[in-house]
Amino acid sequence: PLILSDRINAMQESQTIAMAKKARAMAAEGVDVISLSFGEPDFQTPQYIKDAAKQALDEGYTFYTPVPGYLELRQAICDKFRRDNQLDYQPANIVVSTGAKQALANVVLSLVNPGDEVVVFSPYWVSYEEMVRLAEGVAVPLVGTLENEFKVTAAQLEAAITPRTRLIMYSSPCNPTGAVFSRQELAAIAEVVGRHPHVHVLADEIYEYINFVGEHVSLAQFEEVKERVITVNGFSKGYAMTGWRVGYLAARPEIAAACEKIQSQITSGTCSIAQRAALAALQGGRGSADEMVAAYRRRRDMVLDLVQDIPGFRTNVPSGAFYIFPDVSGYFGRATPAGPVIQTAADLALYLLHDAHVAAVDGSAFGAPNCIRFSTAAADEKLREAFIRIKDSLAKLG
Ligand code: PLP
Repeated sequence: PLILSDRINAMQESQTIAMAKKARAMAAEGVDVISLSFGEPDFQTPQYIKDAAKQALDEGYTFYTPVPGYLELRQAICDKFRRDNQLDYQPANIVVSTGAKQALANVVLSLVNPGDEVVVFSPYWVSYEEMVRLAEGVAVPLVGTLENEFKVTAAQLEAAITPRTRLIMYSSPCNPTGAVFSRQELAAIAEVVGRHPHVHVLADEIYEYINFVGEHVSLAQFEEVKERVITVNGFSKGYAMTGWRVGYLAARPEIAAACEKIQSQITSGTCSIAQRAALAALQGGRGSADEMVAAYRRRRDMVLDLVQDIPGFRTNVPSGAFYIFPDVSGYFGRATPAGPVIQTAADLALYLLHDAHVAAVDGSAFGAPNCIRFSTAAADEKLREAFIRIKDSLAKLG
């Protein structure tokens, strides 16, 4: 018989990907499914970036690249950090990876020993917990409250740090809640981290450009913790480049070297053509994101309006990213027309898939079992239709 490793048997499939698969299977059977499960911009990559990729091919960028990425790209990333984040890095601080996802995994595998605790601000992005598990660490979810836009406070963090804490992980703007940490909140977090020199922080800033409140603050801007903060970012969201698989991190050189070592054995770095396209993306500035951000903000407002008419959905107002994450526990205990009672957010997500033909993701994958995540990165008409259908389906519950 086939025996898979314990490591793989312990790993969960990504639930966002699993839900997208279900929705695709229904669509293949001819059902008109509106999929709001995936965190993917519905925009094409800007033309100037596509052109750079074609040019890269014609110019012969078809060989292995340096493992941490082309020097020119790493230099452009340093320029970006200086321009957008007032952070001073050199190419030796930067590692380019196969998406931000690999950058995150590199860091977790580089820092976490078996049994080490990793404080994960919750609700969190699905893959954090599995990455920690893969490193045989112990994820310690720290839960923010809906009243505080789900944001963890510095006081909560202080109480959660133990001598075994190795790493803290969060995203801002946050997937799934859209919450954005303010300068003041991050200053308070930096102050706590500053008092615990054995702790590092992984700050996931992949949604940096998709921000409706204005200011994006990097934890690494606080001098007392800069050495111990690893900042992850990438091209998937801000430049609509999910399929290209380019992300990066900035860290002190020893951590960057450790991440490079992992890549040297596992991937040899990311695609040469995609790296050249990413370089062009940065050289083009951040203007191409503005139009997309305007659309995401319009859709957020529209969806919040529609959700106001749905009595059992309680939600924060997302300050960034492209999701809404309502608490749906008000529907627990209600019966579906076919009989079964909704007990969990997973039951509700399945009911909505089958009755409203709208795919969303159960919040338990994000450490928030009372919530459901809907992506708002879909065309306006689709979003409108989806929330009208959802409202109708929910009205049928007993
Ligand atoms: N971090 C967060 C919070 C995300 O939502 C995602 C993508 O959904 C990623 C990282 C991964 O991005 P990439 O496509 O660059 O691997």
